[in-house]
Amino acid sequence: MSAKLKIAVQKSGRLHDDSMKLLKECGIDVNNGVNRLKTEASNFPLELFFLRDDDIPQYVEDGVADIGMVGENVVFEKEKQVKIVEKLGFGKCRLSIAVPKNVEYNGINDLHNMRIATSYPVIVADYLKKHKVQAEIHEISGSVEIAPGIGLADAICDLVSSGSTLFMNGLKEVEVMLKSEAVLVANKDLTAAQQQLLDKLLFRMRAVRKAKNNKYILLNAPNDNLEKIISLLPGMKSPTVLPLAEAGWSSVHSVLNENEFWDIIESLKEAGAQGILVVPIEKMII
Ligand code: ATP
Ligand code: MG
Repeated sequence: MSAKLKIAVQKSGRLHDDSMKLLKECGIDVNNGVNRLKTEASNFPLELFFLRDDDIPQYVEDGVADIGMVGENVVFEKEKQVKIVEKLGFGKCRLSIAVPKNVEYNGINDLHNMRIATSYPVIVADYLKKHKVQAEIHEISGSVEIAPGIGLADAICDLVSSGSTLFMNGLKEVEVMLKSEAVLVANKDLTAAQQQLLDKLLFRMRAVRKAKNNKYILLNAPNDNLEKIISLLPGMKSPTVLPLAEAGWSSVHSVLNENEFWDIIESLKEAGAQGILVVPIEKMII
């Protein structure tokens, strides 16, 4: 029997769409099977299981799924024996402690003897222990942000991205315990054939992510300032330089990180660059 890889993906929720999009960008075609528990890719030996994110580490540890896409926060909380093989760049958030905004907070010792409501008891206990703070942890499974308002807790620990949920509930973020993003996890005992498939998938994922962070840039440069313009483009081994039909001008092509681009755009213009085009790259293999 030829090898196949089973991947666990969140069934619905914040990670589902980005997980499916990443597979698609990797050239993997999947029938939309959201209402089913599992489905298969048509052009890659991949079987997909749609699960609650909380269950993914366990399924991967047990080998029911070989790999999975899940938030690091869940991986750390569940303490399962799985390997984190790649950060995926989406699902970014932080796991933070928040207190009512009128409570004075000067540092972690202020948490002493507080009742902290959270769905992340393991991570919170670890954090408190590390900082030698004694507090009471109340594990609740959802709507953590309302706990102080209803008198259930003095503080909460929950996932935050923009902070608007905290704000709406009259809370302020006082400690960031963990920065998290979605990761690809793998079972520790993959067969050689499964590992080979995982490597193939990883190769594609890296090419997709690399491409996202980089842009293809084309610009027109006056020849008398060509050297200067080329020197402004960072991290380039050899830009492509082509003569333009108009005498005295060249077209310069290169690849650069989008963030770097915004830093140097002014200098490029000052140096006489014109007609600057920044184009997305679909895949990038180095
Ligand atoms: P499930 O039904 O699968 O158990 P859930 O309700 O536990 O879903 P979601 O709210 O869909 O989980 O969040 C899934 C993951 O998305 C989180 O574990 C976290 O890694 C990530 N995430 C990113 N931003 C946020 C955010 N602002 N709030 C909550 N989770 C976030
Ligand atoms: Mg969950």
